[in-house]
Amino acid sequence: ATGIRIERLSKRYGSGDTAVLALKDVNMQVAPGEVVGLIGPSGSGKSTLLKSLGAVIDPSAGRMQLGDEVIFDDGWKVRDLRALRRDKIGFVFQAPYLIPFLDVTDNVALLPMLAGMRNDAARARALELLTALDVQHRARAMPSQLSGGEQQRVAIARGLVNRPPVILADEPTAPLDSERALAVIRLLNDMAQRFQTAVIVVTHDEKIIPTFKRIYHIRDGVTFEEAGEGRGFD
Ligand code: ADP
Ligand code: ADP
Repeated sequence: ATGIRIERLSKRYGSGDTAVLALKDVNMQVAPGEVVGLIGPSGSGKSTLLKSLGAVIDPSAGRMQLGDEVIFDDGWKVRDLRALRRDKIGFVFQAPYLIPFLDVTDNVALLPMLAGMRNDAARARALELLTALDVQHRARAMPSQLSGGEQQRVAIARGLVNRPPVILADEPTAPLDSERALAVIRLLNDMAQRFQTAVIVVTHDEKIIPTFKRIYHIRDGVTFEEAGEGRGFD
C-alpha cells in the first residue's frame, strides 16, 4: 500500500480571462500509518485539494494514487467513483451531517451494515469507536439531542468505521475543546497505525497543529512541506 501520492496536480476553474488556477503542480505524499496536517489561508486551495482526492471534482492535470490504485492520471480517471469513495475513503466534514432518524449507534454502524457486516458486529464496532471518542453514553440518543461537539465526534466515528485506507478530514476538531480535540488526533493516529491508514487533516486549529509530525502548507495553490524537530506527540 502506498498511502496517498499526489504528483504535479493542477486544477483550473473556468477558462480564459476569468480562469482560476486553484492548484499548481502540487506534490504530496502520505505514507500508510501517517497523519499529516494541511494548513493554508482561506482561498488557498485546501477544499479543491480535498475534493480532488475525494473524487468529488476532476483535477485538470497530474496524477493521484490512493492505496495501490491510481485514481487519476492526466485526464484519465477510475470508472467507478462511487465504489472508490465507499471502499477507499473516509470523509470527516466540518459539519456532522448525521442522519436525523437514526440513533447515534446506527449512524455509525450504517456504513459497515451496507458493506455487508452483520448488524450486531457493525454496532459493536460502532460502539468501540464511540467509546474511544467518549460519546458512548449517547449511543442510543438521536442526533438532535446531542451537542455540537458530540455530533462532531459521532461524525468522526462514522468516517473511521469502515477502516478505509485513506481518511480526509476537513477541520474535524473546530467545535471541540482542547482535551477532546487532542483525543480525536490521538484516535486518528491510533487508527492510522492499526490499519495502515493515510490521513490528511485540514485545520487551522492551534490546539492540534503542534501534534503533527509533518505539515503541508498551501498558499495560492502551491504546497510546501514543513517537517520539524520536536513535532508530534512523543
Ligand atoms: P471553506 O474554505 O470554508 O471550505 P470556501 O469559501 O472556500 O469555504 O468554499 C465554499 C464552497 O464554495 C466550496 O465548495 C468551494 O468550492 C466553493 N467556491 C469557493 N470559491 C468559489 C468561486 N469563486 N466560485 C464558485 N464556487 C466557489
Ligand atoms: P480553501 O478551501 O483553501 O478556502 P478553495 O479550494 O475553496 O480554497 O479555493 C481555491 C481557489 O479556487 C479560490 O480562489 C476560490 O475562489 C477558487 N474556487 C474554488 N471553487 C471554485 C469554483 N467552483 N469555481 C471557481 N473558482 C473556485
